[in-house]
Amino acid sequence: MKPVVFIPEPIAAIGLELLRNECECLIPWVEAPTTPANLQSSSFRAPLFDADAVIVRLFKVTQEDMIKAKRLKVIGKHGVGVDNIDLEAATSAGIPVVFTPTANANAVAEHTLALILALARQINPASNALMQGRYHERGKFQGVEVAGKTLGVIGFGRIGKRVAQIAAQGLQMRVHVHDPFVPRDTQADLVTFEETLERLMRTADFLTLHVPLTESTRHLINEQSLEWVKPSCRIINTSRGSVIDEAALANALTSGKISGAALDVFVEEPLPVDNVLLKAPNTLLTPHISSSTQESLENMSLQAAQGVLDALHGKTPQYLANPELMKPKSNNKETT
Ligand code: NAD
Repeated sequence: MKPVVFIPEPIAAIGLELLRNECECLIPWVEAPTTPANLQSSSFRAPLFDADAVIVRLFKVTQEDMIKAKRLKVIGKHGVGVDNIDLEAATSAGIPVVFTPTANANAVAEHTLALILALARQINPASNALMQGRYHERGKFQGVEVAGKTLGVIGFGRIGKRVAQIAAQGLQMRVHVHDPFVPRDTQADLVTFEETLERLMRTADFLTLHVPLTESTRHLINEQSLEWVKPSCRIINTSRGSVIDEAALANALTSGKISGAALDVFVEEPLPVDNVLLKAPNTLLTPHISSSTQESLENMSLQAAQGVLDALHGKTPQYLANPELMKPKSNNKETT
């Protein structure tokens, strides 16, 4: 009998084709589009409990799910942030979690740069004014140039590094970085390391977040840290919504403590219609699309599928979020 892979949200055909050579794929989105409501519904989630593997995007996998899913041998994350999977529970249950860390870094970095430039030049309000017949308001949309400005990068991993490289080399920005876990000599020709978050935030004209959501990064940007930024500072977040205290950010925008914010991610997604940020001035919002490029979606689909197949074969997957479960094997031969 072929292993059953439950894939509750759409993934690109390239990964599905790879899986279908050896597995039965359950893809409910072919019958009806996946919606936030059915991601929660018990009937929609039911196939998880008889599956050998699952590949998720936003679909949550909890400890309770893992207890019920007796056959589950691997969880694949189509993406980088594994905060929708209870990683600790997966590790205790011996379930490898594979993810796709190299598949979307460039896509997210390019979206981040697009948001920085869009904020700097007021692209969104200028376009809205024009499309609503208010061409005569063009004088309102004076921008700032980014060349020579300081970009503060919080989190200098795959995405942060790519953002820093494009900003420094392509846009001639001065790039300052805060990441306590990265050696100070990393890309030292391009960036200046700041020991503290406070120093970074005090120097930044643009501040961009590229940290995972953990207990130590939750509300990293809050009422207190927002006191450190210059009034001309603009904040960009393409990491995870909960890294920012949204109410504190909305207050800072409304009171003029900062000049703008561009956000792709939110504490609650989909963004509730009464979210405070929807009324905050100088705000540009996108619906969690940083990694939605054709290239990145294909890479994520393929990497997630390959990781799941490797785990089903007992091989060590290339990208494991809980590497403590599998010791690298020198010849990568199949095991039982
Ligand atoms: P990564 O693991 O390569 O880099 C994260 C970096 O953050 C690491 O270098 C780590 O040392 C650093 N870090 C951790 N805690 C920190 C702290 N308190 N202060 C400063 N730095 C800290 O991850 P990545 O691939 O660069 O992705 C970063 C995050 O972006 C992901 O965790 C994910 O949540 C998010 N993401 C969002 C999208 C999207 O569609 N919007 C897509 C991909 C990734």
